[in-house]
Amino acid sequence: MAKYKQTEASNGQGMFLSVNLKEQLMPGTLEYMLDMLIGSKIDVGVFDKNYKNDKTGAKAIPPRVLVKIIIYGYSKGVKSSRALDEMCRNNIVAKALAEDMQPHWTTIAEFISGNEECFKEIFIKALTYCNELGLVGGSTFAVDGCRLPSNASIELTGTSEDLEKRLKMYRRMAEKHIAKHKRKDERGEVDEKTEKNYKKQQKKLNRRIEKISAFLENMEVRTSTRKKEMKSNVTDNESAMIHSSSGYIQGYIGMAVTDEENQIIIDANAVGTANECEHLPETLDRTLENMKKASIKKPKGKKLTLLADANYFSEGNLKACKEREVEAIIPDGQYKKRLGDNKDKKYGPDDFSYNKRGDYYKCPNGKKLIYRRAFSLHDTDMKEYRASVKDCRGCPLIKKCINTKKEPSKMEHGRRLSVSPNSLCNLLRKKLNTLEYQDRYACRIQIIEPVFANIKTGKGLDRFMLRGRAKVNSQWQLYCITHNLGKCLNGYNKREKIA
Ligand code: SF4
Repeated sequence: MAKYKQTEASNGQGMFLSVNLKEQLMPGTLEYMLDMLIGSKIDVGVFDKNYKNDKTGAKAIPPRVLVKIIIYGYSKGVKSSRALDEMCRNNIVAKALAEDMQPHWTTIAEFISGNEECFKEIFIKALTYCNELGLVGGSTFAVDGCRLPSNASIELTGTSEDLEKRLKMYRRMAEKHIAKHKRKDERGEVDEKTEKNYKKQQKKLNRRIEKISAFLENMEVRTSTRKKEMKSNVTDNESAMIHSSSGYIQGYIGMAVTDEENQIIIDANAVGTANECEHLPETLDRTLENMKKASIKKPKGKKLTLLADANYFSEGNLKACKEREVEAIIPDGQYKKRLGDNKDKKYGPDDFSYNKRGDYYKCPNGKKLIYRRAFSLHDTDMKEYRASVKDCRGCPLIKKCINTKKEPSKMEHGRRLSVSPNSLCNLLRKKLNTLEYQDRYACRIQIIEPVFANIKTGKGLDRFMLRGRAKVNSQWQLYCITHNLGKCLNGYNKREKIA
């Protein structure tokens, strides 16, 4: 008969083990680096002002411990405070990082949600360390937004009219529910289980009714730049309904400006709007400020360059970049169509030649397009020129020029041409027709997209756990600090000569 080894543990008896917590943090790992850096190289003294327990009150968990376990937890995809609390009790590495303190989940949640300004400073300190390791190039950046859901219900989103309708609907549902239960009661069909379910559902409906009514009473209607009422959200009115790759979500856009050299995040900020492009000027200001604070110097003879996708293309954004001496490489909405080998491509403004003396354009068929009007589109001053309908009706090039399903004889007007000759948009459009700028723009994807892929998919930080812009921004700063410190690991090991 086979003989197997037996220990006290396999016999079901308890066993004491001596564990040196420090030894659980193995050199060369992220946890070891966090333990060495946070509280020393990355100073966390900024949190001290929030503690008022010097004379009375219990001793608090040191911010150094909280920052370490939050960043370690985020690097493993553990983003809820309860899960971080549990991790500090069950995971020996987290226990070592937490210096054998067991912060309660409410302490962790309050620490994350109530320290937006402090996390901004920690972000700068982590960025300074990245720069010390030589990870930041300091000349070419890419900006984009990562759309993440937050702790807000998409069902409770709408204009004041939508919410009124929803409130009526819930009231009707509650009345029907009571009537149905009454009928059942009269027939003697109500047992203990039915009564329990009825009470539970009625409580849920009443809570929703109370929530929406209270919200509508104090609601301040938010309007867009076009003076239209924007949708509000009952659970978190600072969040927005955002179109993402997986449909509509209720949440925030985590904006990030990333450096070309090693995809280090230079600026991080969460915004509660459906589109992040309008925030580019303030993002630029913060990026330049962060560079200054983190002592990031622009290489000599190089210009600061910002790459962004077509969503950011607007005269206002290009002007903001120019004012800050940043060269913007942002394509317009038609860029891809122009680049593609499209046989159905219609004549664009570049196919028309301008006559300055007569202020008219000549089309590929040699006909004149006369100035008609000036107008403004997305902050850009535009001019409209128009060809004579007679010229266009009999033109052999009409199919390459005008996009119409009508018979040429039924056309009411000739080809319209809208141009903005002196605008920054137009100048950039022309630059992007050159191979040099097309090659430079092509780098955008490899600078910014891996950062969001690492945060969302690699680390599993695919949602915000909080409500309110300030709290969500704190969490976004922490996600970005986690990303940046992850990038430092190789540099740290080399510097400390850890094999
Ligand atoms: S359709 Fe009109 S504008 Fe276009 S090429 Fe012909 S004549 Fe010129």
